Amino acid sequence: MHFDSTSLTLISARDALRRGDFSARELVEACLGEIDRRDGDLGAFLGTRAEAALAEADQADLNLPLGGLPIALKDNLNLLGEPCSCGSKILEGYRAPYDATAVARLKAAGAIVVGRTNMDEFAMGSSTENSALGRTRNPHAPDRVPGGSSGGSAAAVGAGLVPAALGSDTGGSIRQPAAFCGCVGLKPTYGRVSRYGLVAYASSLDQIGPFTRTAADAALMLQAIAGHDPRDSTSLDTPVPDFSSGLGDGIKGLRIGLPKEYFSAAIDPAMRATIDRALQTLAGLGAELVELSLPHSEYVVASYYLIATAEASTNLARFDGVRYGHRSADAGDLLEQYHQSRGQGFGPEVKRRILLGTYVLSSGYYDAYYLKAQRVRTLIRRDFEQAFSKVDLIASPASPFPAFKAGEKTADPLQMYLADIFTLAANLAGIPGISLPCGRMAIDDEPGVELPVGLQLLGPACSEPTLLRAAHSFEQAGSS
Ligand code: GLN
Repeated sequence: MHFDSTSLTLISARDALRRGDFSARELVEACLGEIDRRDGDLGAFLGTRAEAALAEADQADLNLPLGGLPIALKDNLNLLGEPCSCGSKILEGYRAPYDATAVARLKAAGAIVVGRTNMDEFAMGSSTENSALGRTRNPHAPDRVPGGSSGGSAAAVGAGLVPAALGSDTGGSIRQPAAFCGCVGLKPTYGRVSRYGLVAYASSLDQIGPFTRTAADAALMLQAIAGHDPRDSTSLDTPVPDFSSGLGDGIKGLRIGLPKEYFSAAIDPAMRATIDRALQTLAGLGAELVELSLPHSEYVVASYYLIATAEASTNLARFDGVRYGHRSADAGDLLEQYHQSRGQGFGPEVKRRILLGTYVLSSGYYDAYYLKAQRVRTLIRRDFEQAFSKVDLIASPASPFPAFKAGEKTADPLQMYLADIFTLAANLAGIPGISLPCGRMAIDDEPGVELPVGLQLLGPACSEPTLLRAAHSFEQAGSS
């Protein structure tokens, strides 16, 4: 049977499989075919597992929630027997000795992993340009970046190569690339999804989540991966709600806060117009828009880059050339081996962050930087607690600008860090956030180019059902 796999959602593909319109093998073949044809240019994938995926498709149990559905994984998630590069040379030759819990749960739900996607090295970046393993292009404008750090997963879903993928979000790495590539990206509440088997960047901020074409698909993916895991002591030991059941209930009376600090920030004017239209759509659906303040917003970037780099500097100490990955060939003694293996294996941004993180944790500077940043983090968290005593959700752009040109921000790390001004706070506060496509914007000096714009919604801890319901209502309004 002939069908177009590039426009399928998980739910439409699942229904078609169950009706027998096509088989799981045909579906996986179609996705692999698209990857073969188009990924040479796009660069979303670091590797595929065609043979294994097809064999799994033949065995697929279509009664399972994700039975026979092809997905992709960001390459910092361990999948038994496969490479897990984290976009770095230092993990050359490493193969995952076990499945990450989120991956094991997707497999148990019947999903079929077709490949591993490109990312900024160790998830440090906002454009996927920090990958040591190749370039990923934006599916809507090939000279532009897909966002990052989960740029490969976002590009794969945005281009229709797969209906869904997993990413990780430490400061925006799901929501921002989703916005750049025109797909839905969900960062769950800290602890909602086990981090076991996710290579750690900043452990108090990291969270795994899905990229999909629709909110209903995001609900389906989250259902499969959420829940307590004895192997991750920070995973929440609370019941997992049914994320799909209330999707159609509408948002009449929902109070949505607009932080004045976010809306007075330098937002691209065409993007601002698109966001304003999206807010009007939400109002038209019965939501009440309320202006509010998150007074410590100006400290978010500084506090994030102190805490994230501090945690990264300790997490990345394990890559020493001894236990796994790249080992320098010509070191004279152990110390030289550490120096050379790490010097050769890590890229410049990772080195910058290890240096910064080591510095802020060093004796004498710990109190002035790391401890201070933790205190500011508490204030940022309180800002949200206050805000959520007045509103149900908070809305903002997912990023202050749309997908930028490759190379445009690589010379100045601070410019790159600003790509995340609207997403970082959710990780510091541990709250969930979703980015959803809310229209396209034209680019002044480039007639014909239309870039996706992402609306971000944030909610209090464990408010994923509300976030997904609002996102679903918004989608329905747009498509009716
Ligand atoms: N861009 C941010 C950083 O570089 C966030 C990355 C992420 O969420 N993994 O740290």
